[in-house]
Amino acid sequence: MSSPPAEETAGRSFAELPLSPALQANLQQLEYRTMTPIQAASLPLALAGHDLIAQAKTGSGKTAAFALALLTNLNPRRFAVQAMVLCPTRELADQVTQEIRRLARFEDNIKILALCGGTTMRPQMASLEHGAHIVVGTPGRIMDHIERGSLKLDALNTLVLDEADRMLDMGFYDYIAFIAKQCPVRRQTLLFSATYPEGIARLAQQFLRNPQEVKLLERH
Ligand code: ADP
Ligand code: MG
Repeated sequence: MSSPPAEETAGRSFAELPLSPALQANLQQLEYRTMTPIQAASLPLALAGHDLIAQAKTGSGKTAAFALALLTNLNPRRFAVQAMVLCPTRELADQVTQEIRRLARFEDNIKILALCGGTTMRPQMASLEHGAHIVVGTPGRIMDHIERGSLKLDALNTLVLDEADRMLDMGFYDYIAFIAKQCPVRRQTLLFSATYPEGIARLAQQFLRNPQEVKLLERH
């Protein structure tokens, strides 16, 4: 499927999206007025419930595109992991966690946990025991928590693969496959990537359902 040219989607307001009044108010406070091209192209599809393969260069606002979708799918009154974001590195997972926190700050009681390697398991296990709505982490550590039974995914409704091309470059295919198989079949899967190598198509074919493709190619 072809995506709309950037000039048709750039500069559109978040106000036209079916977002909750609380999210709209928060976007205004954050001074996010107009959508970036990838947000304008992907958010209407994501908010309509489609699986998505979204490709756009670094710095184009992909985080808010999936964050607004997963926050819309979230029921804050249900204290269980409903959304999970897989990222290639701890630094990226921390950035994504911060951006989701900013976008979710209208709801004080949405709990977001970052689960990355390089730190001991025990405090993360204690935090998971306490409960979370959203987890963001690296594939190895997320897989570790699933295997130990500390991360339960039966309430998950949104799975995000962020920087999917980098995760494949780093050899995470098998981890991602393991994790995706532990997620409920009935879910929305959103794949974001800066490039579209062969492995992405394979990943999408296995773990996404009738994905819509949104590609914003760089102009020269
Ligand atoms: P990507 O994941 O595509 O590399 P990010 O999601 O990290 O890009 O976004 C890059 C920067 O743009 C972030 O600092 C983010 O806060 C900001 N940003 C994203 N969307 C908007 C928007 N619609 N209006 C203003 N700033 C935005
Ligand atoms: Mg990003």
